[in-house]
Amino acid sequence: MGLTPAIFLDRDGVINANRADYVKSWAEFEFLPGALAAIRTLSALEWPIIVVTNQSAVGRGIITRADVEDIHQRMVAAIRRAGGRITEVRYCPHRPEDHCRCRKPRPGMLLDAAQQWGLDLRRSVLVGDAMSDILAAHAVGATPILVLTGRGSEQLFRLRENRIDHFQALPDLTAAAAHIVETILHTQPGLS
Ligand SMILES: [Mg+2]
Ligand SMILES: [Zn+2]
Repeated sequence: MGLTPAIFLDRDGVINANRADYVKSWAEFEFLPGALAAIRTLSALEWPIIVVTNQSAVGRGIITRADVEDIHQRMVAAIRRAGGRITEVRYCPHRPEDHCRCRKPRPGMLLDAAQQWGLDLRRSVLVGDAMSDILAAHAVGATPILVLTGRGSEQLFRLRENRIDHFQALPDLTAAAAHIVETILHTQPGLS
């Protein structure tokens, strides 16, 4: 029974533009430049591509679960039209003060996805724009990539302040996808 690695993608600041007041509807969802093509590049690999996103706006009562899931359905459809694929979108609806197990930096979403899809988390990659993404990857032994889109540049300083290393910083999802395809995956066993 072979476990497969996965590619985990954070959403806001990686796939689409951040908004200070949350992405509350599809009308407010704006793909970052190059993101669709980057996901298409990753889709050529045979690994699951799983979006893992903190959406505390749900727990705060700003949007409903139905709103988030509508955004995700449309996002996945747009990615598919652009030649890419998303295996699954997972989101944490909780607020920080809920102390749930799934809000990144906690790894609940990664662990649940591993259970569902039979993933080898230690051979998996997570691309995010925040310290919480890097720490969630570290928590399960996955390889983290920080992109400098979204909050990435600011979060890079925060990571350095906290003396957190063992992650790669790259300009955006385009660069991350190229790096994953050319470097990480080709050096790991099990990829043929
Ligand atoms: Mg983010
Ligand atoms: Zn949660």
